[in-house]
Amino acid sequence: MKYLDEFRDQDLAAPLLEELRRAVTKPFRIMEVCGTHTMAIFRNGLRSLLPEGLELISGPGCPVCVTSASHIDAILTMAEQPKVRIALFGDLFRVPGSSGLSLAYASSQGAKVDIVYSPMDSLELAKKHPQELVIFLGVGFETTTPGIAATILAAHNSGVDNFAVFSTHKVMPPPLIALLNDPELQIDGLLCPGHVSTIIGAGAYQPLVDKYGLACVVGGFEPADILQALILLARQVGQGEARVENAYTRAVRWEGNSRAQQMVSEIFEPVDMEWRGLGTIPLSGLAIRDSYDHFDAEKRLDIKLIPTEEPRGCRCGEILKGKERPPQCPLFGSRCTPGNPVGPCMVSSEGTCAAFYKYGG
Ligand code: SF4
Repeated sequence: MKYLDEFRDQDLAAPLLEELRRAVTKPFRIMEVCGTHTMAIFRNGLRSLLPEGLELISGPGCPVCVTSASHIDAILTMAEQPKVRIALFGDLFRVPGSSGLSLAYASSQGAKVDIVYSPMDSLELAKKHPQELVIFLGVGFETTTPGIAATILAAHNSGVDNFAVFSTHKVMPPPLIALLNDPELQIDGLLCPGHVSTIIGAGAYQPLVDKYGLACVVGGFEPADILQALILLARQVGQGEARVENAYTRAVRWEGNSRAQQMVSEIFEPVDMEWRGLGTIPLSGLAIRDSYDHFDAEKRLDIKLIPTEEPRGCRCGEILKGKERPPQCPLFGSRCTPGNPVGPCMVSSEGTCAAFYKYGG
């Protein structure tokens, strides 16, 4: 497949790996911010090939993993209401709320739950079921938000009345700032998410360079992309420099996608948001603006978020902060497996625990 196969080419990757070995001149730690990078690094076996001295830790960028139990509880409450149909991406289907129950369980008990591949599919569901309120569970970062904003606009423009979104949308980089303010987290640089950066632009990481002196490199998701980004990070750290570099120029520009940014800000406004394991982070989420509140499921059903506890023993919070690795969780591989997940980091296909379980540390 063009633009993918060539970046998976072993003949391209091998010299990059050599270059990376030469670039690593002292020990350093890099946080790969997003779950897509985490999974790509594991899936392509890159961890076992990395030169000594380069340590990769996973960050808070898996949207399913950081969806709080209280948000899952709220969607379970919505699913129990008569004449409500929930539409969501498949990854969330088995994520447990505070009681350990999930939408998969609710569905088995008769709740109407549909897995969709695009938010527009949920609008089609609303047209097909005019007697029901179809609620799309909006989860994700800037990569998914424009599509959901476009769906709300389409519903508005076509006069569809029985459609709403439960927004748990989150934004970068506020969680990174929250993590970097924690003196326990010792990292030298960030492998910044390529897909999010197509929307927000590489320039969004400049404040992290200015304030924390961190090396920041935007990377794509194929092996050659990741190796190229790591080379640039290793060079910056080795030379004692810190700047934003873009190793994913075929998709990311400095200023991002202004049209998508405008559409998102037409529909959504920044709000404080609760993250699983990280608590509430100022202005790290997006809520539907009052001018479109007819499409806000929380307001429409008068749902209140209730503070909850994390599942007992689950270390997702520490893993999402980059402080622990999955094998340090006492439940890893015993009580918690992909077939029987306790926490979201094991449910999500981009979760660090799922990656460790599937591919080994
Ligand atoms: S192994 Fe399971 S219980 Fe432990 S941190 Fe990961 S998801 Fe949570």
